[in-house]
Amino acid sequence: MKVWLNGEFVDSQDAKINVFDHAVLYGDGIFEGIRVYGGKIFKCAEHLDRLFGSAEYIRLDIPYTKAQLTDAMNEAVRVNNRVDAYIRLVVTRGVGDLGVNPFVCAKPSTFIIVDSIALYCEQMYEQGLPVIIAKTVRTSPSMLSPSAKTLNYLNNTVAKIEAVDAGVSEAIMLNADGYVAECTGDNIFFVKDGKVFTPPREAGMLMGITRQVVLDLAADLGIEAIEQLFGKEFVFEADECFLTGTGAEIIAVTKIDDKIIGNGSAGPITQKLLGAFRELIRKG
Ligand code: PMP
Repeated sequence: MKVWLNGEFVDSQDAKINVFDHAVLYGDGIFEGIRVYGGKIFKCAEHLDRLFGSAEYIRLDIPYTKAQLTDAMNEAVRVNNRVDAYIRLVVTRGVGDLGVNPFVCAKPSTFIIVDSIALYCEQMYEQGLPVIIAKTVRTSPSMLSPSAKTLNYLNNTVAKIEAVDAGVSEAIMLNADGYVAECTGDNIFFVKDGKVFTPPREAGMLMGITRQVVLDLAADLGIEAIEQLFGKEFVFEADECFLTGTGAEIIAVTKIDDKIIGNGSAGPITQKLLGAFRELIRKG
């Protein structure tokens, strides 16, 4: 596998970051996870907009333009002979000293990994996942914006550990006010009485690209979608629940803590949206 690192392709074992890079010392940097379907980068502009938004939030100057990063990603896909792939695009703060001050770091490092991703097997897409509600609260926007996709993922990691300890693969995270925010690596949707519900931006989560695709697909299919704050009582009353993310795409949740959701397999609206999503990525 060849990794694009600061403008050059290097073998994956030679793709190295300096130990004084603040990405290593402080989780100071930003990233995107992006899919390639049929040789085409899915929602490329949206991912780059979010990357540059995250950069602005942490006051990091990305040393490339969006056009240069698009070319680099396409080149990395080609060099690695991929048609369908998962891209990890990362910009680190760069090499600094042992203090936190990011402005002593000379130059960010940018790298692009092109690999595959399969978070769940096909059977899981039919049967759905069990999840838990994490005790770990999602970082409040006043602490660190959850809408910025930074390399500081420990809030999510600690909640993920709760999930793994409970024998499930995802955890729903509530915000400091007790409202549902998102999962550790996915956004969350519920279906109640034929309508689709998802937390709004103010719930404090990453504004997922897949989340927006699903909202658009729901509109196309004539399914009413409502962005609204809701607590965990609502979760247990839902007819269906599903998660969205670049890696997971759309996957049903059929058990939350000890409560079975719906009839215990992917519900009709989840299936309809998943079908439309697969059609969309197939058409490109
Ligand atoms: N929330 C979090 C915390 C994430 O890390 C991700 C991406 N894995 C998502 C939501 C989903 O975002 P997207 O659809 O843009 O991948």
